[in-house]
Amino acid sequence: MIDVSDIVQYLYCPRKVYFLKVAGIKIEKPKMEEGKRAQAEVERNLRRFAEKIGGKLETGIYLESQRQGLKGLLDAMINADSAIYPVDVKLSRFDSLSYPWKMQLTAYAMLLEENSGKSVRKGYIYIVGTRKLIEVRIEPEDRRALMRIVKEVEEIIESEKYPPTSKSKKCNYCEVSEFCV
Ligand code: SF4
Repeated sequence: MIDVSDIVQYLYCPRKVYFLKVAGIKIEKPKMEEGKRAQAEVERNLRRFAEKIGGKLETGIYLESQRQGLKGLLDAMINADSAIYPVDVKLSRFDSLSYPWKMQLTAYAMLLEENSGKSVRKGYIYIVGTRKLIEVRIEPEDRRALMRIVKEVEEIIESEKYPPTSKSKKCNYCEVSEFCV
């Protein structure tokens, strides 16, 4: 099973998946401490929002699916009577929806759907710095795109082939750039 975070790494650059999952390179998570400090406020705000839409907040939910070949730790979910919504919390300085974020939330939505038995048609991304909550609709084409990405990630890991890619300005911010030739 691949991790939901591998999806984001793959969409940043397929070669990152090779370094992290085949070569076993570990990258630091410098924002961890900042995340812990913000946690209480984030939970308070999300709980308030959950109540507003008639739901209940749950945090830190481990999800996995053999069928989808996916696993991951979801930051939070809002459980209402007839619906359930995944919530992904971001410490990013960007506060607009990117494709990797959408695919990551799609992966959580599909896992949550299978684990809860309720259908998931939308989810939320909460931006810590700006306290912005972005509503994200999960469409059938998003699910199909995600399944294609999962297969591509699996192929890199199983084949252990070094993916061809061209250097770009992303390389300047890449945590594995010192290993990448
Ligand atoms: S340094 Fe550039 S090419 Fe290498 S893994 Fe990072 S983003 Fe990809």
